[in-house]
Amino acid sequence: MYKAKAYSATSATSPLASATIPRRDPTDQDVQIEILFCGICHSDLHQVRNEWSGVMPTVYPCVPGHEIVGKVTKVGSAVKNFKSGDLAAVGCMVDSDRTCKECQAGLEQFCRNFTLTYNFPDKHLGGVTYGGYSDSIVVDQRFVLRVPANLNQAGVAPLLCAGITTYSPMRHWGVTKGKKVGVVGLGGLGHMGVKLSHALGAHTVAFTTSGGVPAIRSSVVPPIRKQ
Ligand SMILES: [Zn+2]
Ligand SMILES: [Zn+2]
Repeated sequence: MYKAKAYSATSATSPLASATIPRRDPTDQDVQIEILFCGICHSDLHQVRNEWSGVMPTVYPCVPGHEIVGKVTKVGSAVKNFKSGDLAAVGCMVDSDRTCKECQAGLEQFCRNFTLTYNFPDKHLGGVTYGGYSDSIVVDQRFVLRVPANLNQAGVAPLLCAGITTYSPMRHWGVTKGKKVGVVGLGGLGHMGVKLSHALGAHTVAFTTSGGVPAIRSSVVPPIRKQ
């Protein structure tokens, strides 16, 4: 075990403050990451303020953050896809049981025994997991993603939650040229939805109740290469 620096909340009403948290030493399956950027998701705020007390009561101190981008600093002996110096990312989940029907089908997000990145029972250290508002994290290799070196790392961070949340349904429903996509609300997810939908070639329309927001035209977003 080693100590990492973090920003943590000690109660539902206290602001985040500097703290020290324990991290496990990497096992043979683990990737240790020096965190360079972490997005701020509204879920972080809900959790910190204990606004989901009915389903997921907050355990304090709470270190949120599940849009993590960083540099690999150490890997376990069984880790083949990462090495020190690689860019890597971690999203909302850091583990699952890998044995249930959902896990076997590659749908770990439906696993009944998954481990979320923060405020979830920590199988290794006891207590709860601590998220990305920290300078370091250790995660099982199966829940670590590769980040191409040519991407803006700060810009990559929100893809880990807001991005995949909007990208996944678009892929599921086959969004492509000739389709129409309406995005209701231009918040953290909404602006991502507009960019992704346009990049996939769809006719994209944003709905907003804010009169002051200028009309967003599909053409302002440069198209990306075809999948
Ligand atoms: Zn999120
Ligand atoms: Zn499972």
